[in-house]
Amino acid sequence: MMYHHVGSDRCSNELNIFEQHLEYISKNFTTLFPTFEKLPKKAICLVFDDGYFDFYKFIYPLLKKYNLKALLAVTPKYILDDTAKDDASRLNYEHNDLFKKYKNATFCTYKELKEMSNSGIVQIISHSYSHKNLLEDDTSLTQELLKSKEMIEQKLNTKVEGFVYPFGKYNQKVLDETMKHYKYSFRIGNGVNKDFRGINGVIYRIDGDFLQSPNEIFSFKNMLRFKFKTFIKSLVGNRWV
Ligand SMILES: [Zn+2]
Repeated sequence: MMYHHVGSDRCSNELNIFEQHLEYISKNFTTLFPTFEKLPKKAICLVFDDGYFDFYKFIYPLLKKYNLKALLAVTPKYILDDTAKDDASRLNYEHNDLFKKYKNATFCTYKELKEMSNSGIVQIISHSYSHKNLLEDDTSLTQELLKSKEMIEQKLNTKVEGFVYPFGKYNQKVLDETMKHYKYSFRIGNGVNKDFRGINGVIYRIDGDFLQSPNEIFSFKNMLRFKFKTFIKSLVGNRWV
């Protein structure tokens, strides 16, 4: 699954529905971190992109309450060590200009990331250094892929094994380069994976933003749609991404 904020816009979930969604997951699935070991039945991996402060403020307490594990994909360029800003000002931004406002600590700080990482229920992964489209000519793949990983590892004293492509953008060259540094890479995709090798080497995620009810995303009809997409993608490869 892929999620972003708590809130009311398209990249968000309203907190009340989201809590019921997590409660449903806790009763019906086993949440886990990426692994190449055999998966339990009904395994699910929750991935939150970008690392907004609202993850720490609202979602992390719910993960603890329902005993769920989640990955948080962060971009080191915008992460502060610590902050004295109050919660209201940190939550006060429009989705589209939050990168510009990062000095207001709109993202989780390293102090918060460290606390969550140490809890054992949140694993921090990389979402590139600056959230740049990796297909653009002036992108430094070394900076976006390797430097981001090294910075997070050094700051949090942990291992970073997963990478989420910014905007879901990659090609074969980017994928090959990514897999030199990471064990797992994630895109958006709306497909289901039978294991953490993904589909053609990339793990597809179901868009879990803007849920209208706690569990309809897992309906028979939706699961059929995700499985159909998985089947088509496994046939055509990565060339349409
Ligand atoms: Zn992102």
